[in-house]
Amino acid sequence: MNIALIAHDKKKDDLIRLVRAYAHILKHHHLFATGTTGKRVAEATGLPVHCFKSGPLGGDQEIGAAVARGEMDMILFFRDPLTAQPHEPDVSALMRLCDVYSIPLATNMGGSEILVRSIEQGDFEARMLDHNDEPPA
Ligand code: PGA
Repeated sequence: MNIALIAHDKKKDDLIRLVRAYAHILKHHHLFATGTTGKRVAEATGLPVHCFKSGPLGGDQEIGAAVARGEMDMILFFRDPLTAQPHEPDVSALMRLCDVYSIPLATNMGGSEILVRSIEQGDFEARMLDHNDEPPA
């Protein structure tokens, strides 16, 4: 699966904790991220991460474009609900596209743990069928 990781500044340490804790699952998937998040996750975990631009400079929109092209299977987006973000419209647009294309999206640690654990259980087959129009390999 292609999995996108995004964390607002005050949530980056939490996301790194998640990736460390579930590295045994995530290492079998392709990881993508907004710029600063990806750099920090790669440094902290040693896992390869494809980095898009930094979020405020268009990284969330790049991930949204990947969702629209059918190239992203899951988004783990650690949002900071207590700090105003200059790129809030981009954040909303990305979440909207996840709903348009029925892409699993978690916006906090609790939801992310459930999503990552469900990868291991192969729980996404119905959605993958709908998304790709053919059974997953
Ligand atoms: P960043 O972007 O990973 O470049 O910090 C995250 C965001 O704020 O969307």
